[in-house]
Amino acid sequence: MEKKKKSKLGLTTKIFIALLAGALFGILLCYVIPASKVRDDVIINGILYVIGQGFIRLMKMLVVPLVFCSLVCGAMAIGDTKKLGSVGAKVLIIYLFTTAVAVAIALTVGNLINPGIGLDMDKVKSSAAAVQTMEKTSMVDTILNIIPDNPIGAMANGNMLQLIVFALIVGVILAKLGKKTEVVGNFFTQFNDVMMEMTMMVMKLAPIGVFCLIGKTFATIGFSAFIPLGKYMIGVLAALAIQCLLVYMGLLKGFTGLNPFLFLKKFFPVMAFAFSTATSNATIPLSIDTLDKKVGVSKKISSFTIPLGATINMDGTAIMQGVAVIFAAQAFGIHLNMTDYLTVIGTATLASIGTAGVPSVGLVTLTMVFNSIGLPVEAIGLIMGIDRILDMSRTAINITGDAVCTTIVAYQNGALDKDVFYAREKDKNEVFPDKEDI
Ligand code: ASP
Repeated sequence: MEKKKKSKLGLTTKIFIALLAGALFGILLCYVIPASKVRDDVIINGILYVIGQGFIRLMKMLVVPLVFCSLVCGAMAIGDTKKLGSVGAKVLIIYLFTTAVAVAIALTVGNLINPGIGLDMDKVKSSAAAVQTMEKTSMVDTILNIIPDNPIGAMANGNMLQLIVFALIVGVILAKLGKKTEVVGNFFTQFNDVMMEMTMMVMKLAPIGVFCLIGKTFATIGFSAFIPLGKYMIGVLAALAIQCLLVYMGLLKGFTGLNPFLFLKKFFPVMAFAFSTATSNATIPLSIDTLDKKVGVSKKISSFTIPLGATINMDGTAIMQGVAVIFAAQAFGIHLNMTDYLTVIGTATLASIGTAGVPSVGLVTLTMVFNSIGLPVEAIGLIMGIDRILDMSRTAINITGDAVCTTIVAYQNGALDKDVFYAREKDKNEVFPDKEDI
């Protein structure tokens, strides 16, 4: 019985405990335990380093197949938009637009907060772990490099932009051919499931990985890691709040005239659900139901746009990735130019399409954003330690974005019943019959 109780500790809690324990252990190693061969070579650069790097390698292992499959599946879903004609095209444009705005906000907030300054990652990165950073290329080459001359080569080399282009083309064609290529379509859907399962398995190891990565970081650089990580967290949360309160509510008011606060109040239970599960996919039914019964959005629209949004529209994830880019660039002392920023806006928007609506996948697709501008992926190890709470927060924003865009498109297509939105809730069917009105 006792054992069962122990194993019920959720992954989130375990990662938090690992984070604190790792930090504490690192601080002890840094300040209390005197330098010796055992401390430096066996513990810090031996055990902590090997397990931490092993975990990073496992994460990297997932990237190419996971991104490829989920993008093919995402593009297949986009291909279906033809069936819904203008609704599909409109919602797609709003989804992409809000994601690009989200990344731009994140980059701005990141540059204001400067989360990575004061963190000398070069110290953490041991010479053996020197990460190959991609050579920077000119704008013209960057554009040309998007087209894969050898898709298999792109996969083997982890060239993410080329991989994305190829995956999108495959997905759109699969959607176009429909029944004729059902088997191949199903293959990708199922392989995507396999990769998702593998991600979950790797994530189960996260507490150990996080303990070692954080432990080594704090052992090497001591207290100076606290402030940058805190700033990074505040940066992500601030950008998420701006996206929700200014961008979404502004768009909602501007396009539909609906009262943004009432919308938030009505939609809050869905956000809370997304927050607690960190899974966009799981909130799909609740979101559709809430939009129908409390906001007045016809299910004809939402039953298509909400699942599509949960698959391809991840503004919160894109925000985390934008701030993470600034964090890593500053921590490694890498200067980013305008081309880099534009590349990040582009790749983070695409990464949002490639991020599945389940916990932690945003961290995996972050590797692709880092690769696109040649940032070392080591910084992800640090960020990972505090990612759970940010994952929960960004998931709430991810699904709010889907709901706001859906409401706007529904309004424009005459599928929004304002009477439902402004009706007193107790007169309406409750989404939560056993709960009091919010
Ligand atoms: N957990 C997020 C979601 O489900 C995805 C992520 O950013 O990891 O929307």
